[in-house]
Order: sequence, then C-alpha cells, then structure tokens
Amino acid sequence: MKTVLFNKIALIGIGLIGSSIARDIKALGLANEVIISSRSRETLRRAEQLKLGHTYVTSATEAVVDADLTIVSVPVGASETIAKQISETLKPGSIVTDVGSTKASVISQMLPHIPADVHFIPGHPLAGTEKSGPDAGFEGLFKGRWCILTPVEGTDPDALSKLKVFWWALGSKVDEMDPEHHDKVLAIVSHLPHIIAYNIVGTADDLETVTESEVIKYSASGFRDFTRLAASDPTMWRDVCLHNKDAILEMLARFSEDLAYLQRAIRWGEGDKLFELFTRTRAIRHSIIEAGQDVNVPDFGRHAFDPKAPKA
Ligand code: NAP
Repeated sequence: MKTVLFNKIALIGIGLIGSSIARDIKALGLANEVIISSRSRETLRRAEQLKLGHTYVTSATEAVVDADLTIVSVPVGASETIAKQISETLKPGSIVTDVGSTKASVISQMLPHIPADVHFIPGHPLAGTEKSGPDAGFEGLFKGRWCILTPVEGTDPDALSKLKVFWWALGSKVDEMDPEHHDKVLAIVSHLPHIIAYNIVGTADDLETVTESEVIKYSASGFRDFTRLAASDPTMWRDVCLHNKDAILEMLARFSEDLAYLQRAIRWGEGDKLFELFTRTRAIRHSIIEAGQDVNVPDFGRHAFDPKAPKA
C-alpha cells in the first residue's frame, strides 16, 4: 500500500543522490507532487526524460513554493547559494533537509538563511557510488543503509519524526548525531579512504619507472579497488575536503603517524608487528560483514551486480 507522506516535495539537485530519492518517492508513492530543480537545462531535461518528477524548473526559488519537504542534494560548497535562493519562498511550517557529506559546514552555510518558521534538519544518507548525474541514480539505493540526521538546537520533534519516517520509508536505518561528531566519524570512514585512493592512484600515474599501460594492464584487485574510489566526482570531493578541513587534517595526521610505524616495521623486518596489525584489521572486515554493511563474497560482491557472473 502506498502512503503519501508529503503533499509536495521539492528536490533541489537531481544527480546520483537526488535522482535516487526521486525514484524511491515515485515507486513508493510518498508524495502527490514532486518538483525538480537543477541549475543546468541539460540535467533538468534528462530528469524529465527519465520521468523523475511532475514539474521541472531551473529556479530553486520557484521550486520550493508550497513544498512541504525540500531536499537539497548539491555539492556541499553550493549549500549557501541554494539557501539564499530558497529562503524567501519556503513554505512556513515546511521541512528543509539536505544530503551533504559534511554537516557542520552545511549548517553554518544554510541555517542563517532559513526562516524561523521553517524546520531545517540536516541529514546525510551513507549510500552512494562513484557515479554522478541523474542517470547514475537507482531505486533502492538507501535500502539497509544508514541515514544520519544532525538536528540543530530547538528542532521541532514532530518535524524530526516526519523526516525519520521518510527515510525509514526509503528503507534506511536512521541515527541522530551531533554535526561535529558526524564530521569526525565520516572523516575516518569515508573521507580519508577517498583521499588515500586519490593519492595512491595519483602516485601510480606519476611513476616514471612503470608505464601507465602497465598500471592498467597488471592492475591487481588492490589497485583496482582504489581506482573505483578515485573515480568519484571531483567537484563533490573537492568540496568535502574544503568543508571538512579540520577533521580530515586531524585524521590525516594520525594516518601519517601510523604509516610511519608501518614503514619502520617493514624496514626493520619486524614481522610480528606487521602480523599483529594485519590480524587486527582483518577482524574489522569481519565485523563489517557481521553488521550487514557488506557481503562476504569475492571481489566485495561486485559480481553480484553482474547477471552473467557466477553467484557466490
Ligand atoms: P551529482 O550526481 O554530481 O549531482 C549534483 C547535483 O547538484 C546536480 O543536479 C547539479 O546540477 C547540482 N549542482 C552541482 N553544482 C552546483 C552548484 N554549484 N550550484 C547548484 N547546483 C549544483 O552529485 P551527488 O553525488 O548526487 O551528490 C549530491 C550531494 O550528496 C553532495 O553534497 C554529496 O556530498 C552528497 N552525497 C553524495 C554521495 C555519493 O556517493 N555520491 C553519498 C552521500 C551524500 P547540474 O547537473 O544541473 O549542474
């Protein structure tokens, strides 16, 4: 049975995340009307071709008129511009949320522009791929994944409950967190791994003794997995680095110290230290599988998406 949760939903930004939300809203019948806004006519036209909503406008200001829920899904660096554009046309009593990968910065960019009679509840679904644009989205992206909400002081409990019900409807598990804490947690579980991937692939690209064709030809699974992360959207990740600077630098400092420890252990042939670390990290992988955050099949379950591949 379909349950309408909001009469009108405005989606500002219709890339991987926005279009996945749009597909779920449509499939689950969560709104009577969905209006989509993207700054470029090209993206908007593609959203229309994919029938992701009912109405399509380039103006975010126009999109939020009468919307009961507004979801902002643009690179985090564009948050303030969007907040300024929508501030005067937001419906009193409506909810505004976002999906940005950093939270303290999004709050400081948006909160000052959101009228007092509008409920601003920042959020971050921990789901995605390295692809971008409206074609990259798919129905069910958020199923079984966490969505972290970082409510600001004085958030209306009813509005918060409504937003939780929305994410639950998409199949997400919902948690609440302080924005600064969110940024630290995400710095280690998401931002640092991407930065390391960008760095290692960059290093391979810069090597003079190994040709680029060899890097590609002999790419073993370790390097291949890094290239998937390093293929992530440059705009999004530039903004994540610039807007979660402190937490990322803190984690990078820790990482560099630990890397020096590893480097020394390799140099001095301290096999016991290496073995102890590798045993500890293997246990983390097992815990992630036990928590249902990944599947225990070869190639990280990648073949599960290939209908021709043998099933595990
Ligand atoms: P995306 O596929 O690249 O789509 C970005 C959307 O934002 C497009 O509609 C684009 O419009 C618009 N946009 C880009 N730059 C803009 C600007 N300067 N001003 C206004 N609009 C702009 O991005 P995405 O992967 O959906 O990411 C959207 C947000 O979700 C980001 O904040 C990201 O941190 C967060 N997030 C991403 C993932 C992930 O895995 N990708 C996961 C969780 C959260 P045009 O195409 O018309 O230019």
